[in-house]
Amino acid sequence: MNRNFKEILKPGAHVVVVGLARSGVSAVRFLLNLGVKISVSEGGRQENLEGDLVRWLKEKRVFVETGGHTSELLTSADCILVSPGVPPGIAPLAAARQKGIPVVGELALAKDFLKVPLVAVTGTNGKSTVTTLIGDLLTGSGKKVFVGGNIGIPLAEYLAGPQDCEAVVLEVSSFQLDSAGEFRPQVGVLLNITPDHLDRYVSYGEYVDSKMSLFKNQQPGDVAVLNGDDPAIAGWLAAEADQQSPWPLRGEIRQYSSCGRTGIAACLNGTTVRIATADEPGKMVEEYELAGTPLAQAPNSENAMAAILAVRAMGCSPAAIQKSLAGFVPLPHRLALVAEIDGVSYYDDSKATNVGAVYSALGGMRQPVVLIAGGRDKGGGYEMLLPLVQEKVRAMVLIGEAREAMAKAFAKTTRIAFAEEMGEAVRLARTMAEKGDAVLLSPACASFDMFRSYSHRGEMFTQAVSRLGRQKGR
Ligand code: ADP
Repeated sequence: MNRNFKEILKPGAHVVVVGLARSGVSAVRFLLNLGVKISVSEGGRQENLEGDLVRWLKEKRVFVETGGHTSELLTSADCILVSPGVPPGIAPLAAARQKGIPVVGELALAKDFLKVPLVAVTGTNGKSTVTTLIGDLLTGSGKKVFVGGNIGIPLAEYLAGPQDCEAVVLEVSSFQLDSAGEFRPQVGVLLNITPDHLDRYVSYGEYVDSKMSLFKNQQPGDVAVLNGDDPAIAGWLAAEADQQSPWPLRGEIRQYSSCGRTGIAACLNGTTVRIATADEPGKMVEEYELAGTPLAQAPNSENAMAAILAVRAMGCSPAAIQKSLAGFVPLPHRLALVAEIDGVSYYDDSKATNVGAVYSALGGMRQPVVLIAGGRDKGGGYEMLLPLVQEKVRAMVLIGEAREAMAKAFAKTTRIAFAEEMGEAVRLARTMAEKGDAVLLSPACASFDMFRSYSHRGEMFTQAVSRLGRQKGR
């Protein structure tokens, strides 16, 4: 259904914002410009909201409901803007949908309110890295760019402002795609699909469809950048070729591969990215060198291919791209080398909250690994890691709620120890590691059972490693 949100959000309409986290607050700011009547429905309790926020909402005459979402409020709306963290199936939202009330997230607004070309990046892993890299490459090519979405500043915040950029780059999660309406990125990038968030999706197939829906509304002239080595994406494309997929891909498909597949748009030759232009498919006419940049190793070399294809589609010149690649600064807690102590390297990959990220981290390791893993299980199973654990993991130190389940999965494959907290995990890992090994924190789980966030977990790891270093210095 093609809805016009300029029509729906006309002055006087009643809009309910569901969820008052960062994206909800930005949605309110955006709506204030439109002269609509705004209500907010927040699941958390009133006393947990910041005083400044409550005062600001009162001053702006926004009605606030806290401690849950009532059908009474939600079904009185002309439109509901829902935050990605709110489970889509809750009864009051279902009741509103049944009444024909549009229930959408901020991405659905882009179609009618965003004035410039849009690049959107999704995938199970690598979204933040590639979104940031694309932003850097566009900026390095002299373009003024807004970078945000699921990373940093919500899209609604940009829509609320003067919209003074030439392009917008968004990190997009599957939860956001599920409420994206007719969202249509001119360039869409899909990095990979491996099991994640299976606590929220009915099946893996549903999760795959969610990721592929990035391209659902693309039209001829738009570009779809896809990982050509990913089995789930390949399966979906094969179904599409048989006309068995839920929707067709209408944009131009540009695939990349690190394992020498032919007939595609980008491939890796050592540390060189080779690209075929759209005019001469199959002929690798451009080269970009990753050696000497932080992008030389997997998985960042894959991320570089995806980003280069995206920004070439946005008109950046090869020379400007090559120059900016060298200056890329990797994000923290993504395979960051923290220290080397007694010949053992310590890596913080705390952002690896699912098996796919751990798979790629282990895949890129050249030395034997003592793996610190565990935390809150996300329901995807750990079998995918077995061959790499067999090949590379000397021992595992397991923490958190998932440790029993993980021990069961890997007991026959490697040596296992349990730790109660991060300091103990690092101390144990040190005793199990041999000179030349890597100790890798790559948990395959969410952090919330023991830490405030993945960054808190990574900081605890870094601190524990520094304590080891200091003890050694005594
Ligand atoms: P996201 O925003 O999708 O979570 P990040 O860039 O924050 O992605 O990286 C999350 C985790 O995934 C990190 O552990 C990182 O090392 C790993 N990673 C980064 N790029 C890829 C990739 N292309 N494939 C698999 N894992 C990746």
